[in-house]
Amino acid sequence: MTRLSAYLLPTEKQAPADAEAISHKLMVRAGLIRQLGAGLWTYLPAGWKIHRKVEEIIRQEMDAIGGQELLMPLLNPAEPWRRTGRIEIDEIFKLNDRKGTEMVLAMTHEEIVTTHVAQVVRSYRDLPQILYQIQVKERDEPRPRAGVLRTREFRMKDAYSFDRDEAGLDESYAKHIVAYDRIFDRSGLEWYRVESDVGMMGGTAAHEYMAPCAAGEDEVALAPGYAANVEVASGDPQPVEQQAPLPQPVEEHTPGCTTVEDVSRRLGVPAGAVLKAYPVIASGRGLVLVLVRGDHRVNEVKLRNALRTDVRPATPDEFATKIGPAGFIGPVGANAPIVLDDAVGDGGYVTGANRGDFHLRGVEPGRDFPFERADVRAVEPGDTVGGHPIRIEKAIEVGNIFKLGTRYATALGASYLDESGRQHPVVMGCYGIGPARIVAAAVEQFHDEAGISWPRALAPFDAELVVIARGETEERVFADRLYEELRESGLDVLYDDRDAGPGEKFADAELLGAPVRVTVGRRTLAGGELEVQVRRGRERLSLPLEGAADAVAELW
Ligand code: ATP
Ligand code: MG
Ligand code: MG
Ligand code: MG
Repeated sequence: MTRLSAYLLPTEKQAPADAEAISHKLMVRAGLIRQLGAGLWTYLPAGWKIHRKVEEIIRQEMDAIGGQELLMPLLNPAEPWRRTGRIEIDEIFKLNDRKGTEMVLAMTHEEIVTTHVAQVVRSYRDLPQILYQIQVKERDEPRPRAGVLRTREFRMKDAYSFDRDEAGLDESYAKHIVAYDRIFDRSGLEWYRVESDVGMMGGTAAHEYMAPCAAGEDEVALAPGYAANVEVASGDPQPVEQQAPLPQPVEEHTPGCTTVEDVSRRLGVPAGAVLKAYPVIASGRGLVLVLVRGDHRVNEVKLRNALRTDVRPATPDEFATKIGPAGFIGPVGANAPIVLDDAVGDGGYVTGANRGDFHLRGVEPGRDFPFERADVRAVEPGDTVGGHPIRIEKAIEVGNIFKLGTRYATALGASYLDESGRQHPVVMGCYGIGPARIVAAAVEQFHDEAGISWPRALAPFDAELVVIARGETEERVFADRLYEELRESGLDVLYDDRDAGPGEKFADAELLGAPVRVTVGRRTLAGGELEVQVRRGRERLSLPLEGAADAVAELW
């Protein structure tokens, strides 16, 4: 039951004076968040609702891969942090309790979860385990900024996997990739998964999930227009036997695969599906080839949105020169990273590259593929590839997954006995997501001059009902009834029943960004039609009053 007249949604005409990021400006202006101090934010009711929606998506996908939710304290004894050496990290908030004992406010929970696993896991039968929580983290960030994108206190979904060996870890890691891909897809974000440095966490492999947006602090490089087309079976599927064997390098990223069909099977691309290749430069680290299956047109649109670049099918010449006959880049050599992008159907982005399923670091333009400035090793603005300028785009890290190995288990004594009674350290992975960053990245990616245009899965309300009426008029009676009907048809509706003018109501509705706005006014009743606005694209349509509630529910 949400009537705006009784709901705390303090909208503002002006953004905070110090705000630069669009998500900072719009989330404050829309009444979603309020600042308390440097890097400290309160979520007001509508903002918290959005955050919780993201958390729920995360929870569902973590549960789907067998994750078990638990909750660990934010306030930690310093001891385990000393044992791993992480006590030295500058970002850690430390304090003493009244007895003078040193305490830590957790920035993540590897130390704590591993301490418990060390206590309770004894035998190989106790493994594997995936444990996760959605819990507050504290970090003394050197530069809190951009609203909720970088705060000193934030909630994180942090998951930890515990396995018997590296092979087990590979499986747990692969499960998390599935879960993460689905989480970011379901959130409605544009995103990339890129291989990343293992950094201070140590470990053997890591990926970052990046959401392109202006307020981001990382960079993604794209080569607009540099598109090539691998029509493995362009609408005219070739029998498998006729497909050329893959060039040698494919062994690197798809072990055991010798034909396109093998690769298709391994990557879950149906044999005979149309594979299109779109080379782009990702993360300044090299060439990424995106293969898309399924319907061309849909994929091109999705891909264009996802890559924020112009994509087009390659000409036959480009195809011949840039892409090998079997759909892999000829001149690239063993380091050709390949992203396989399932942009259709279940929406899962299956992303692969030439080592495991990963993007590859260390691919060098010029060495590994034709590049205008062969002397250039890093992608810089002004560089070109295939005659096309490379564009550097900003992105924000929304998630990060690590193969940690045994570092924490060794430091904290987490081990198990195998079948023959031999002791081994537990092999760990850790997996983080910042829901606040998903929320803010959605605002960065989906807004216009009037305000926010939420992806449906994140929207604070399914629809906003605006009544243009002062006092107890016929319109208000009608709108009250429509409100009930909309709710009965399963929609979560914000009802702007305030005694305010249409200008103010429309402005607030567009600022808040519910996917659908329904207006009831004098003209509505006179003309027998409801005015509906679809927020994204601001398209207007009319619906007959009769059956309006159901029609709106269907729009959604
Ligand atoms: P960054 O590189 O942006 O500082 P990080 O690598 O330090 O992030 P992780 O330790 O990998 O972050 O934490 C996992 C996730 O938590 C990040 O991917 C991000 O979504 C989120 N996160 C990290 N720091 C913050 C912060 N200060 N405010 C909000 N969310 C954060
Ligand atoms: Mg950080
Ligand atoms: Mg990072
Ligand atoms: Mg990180």
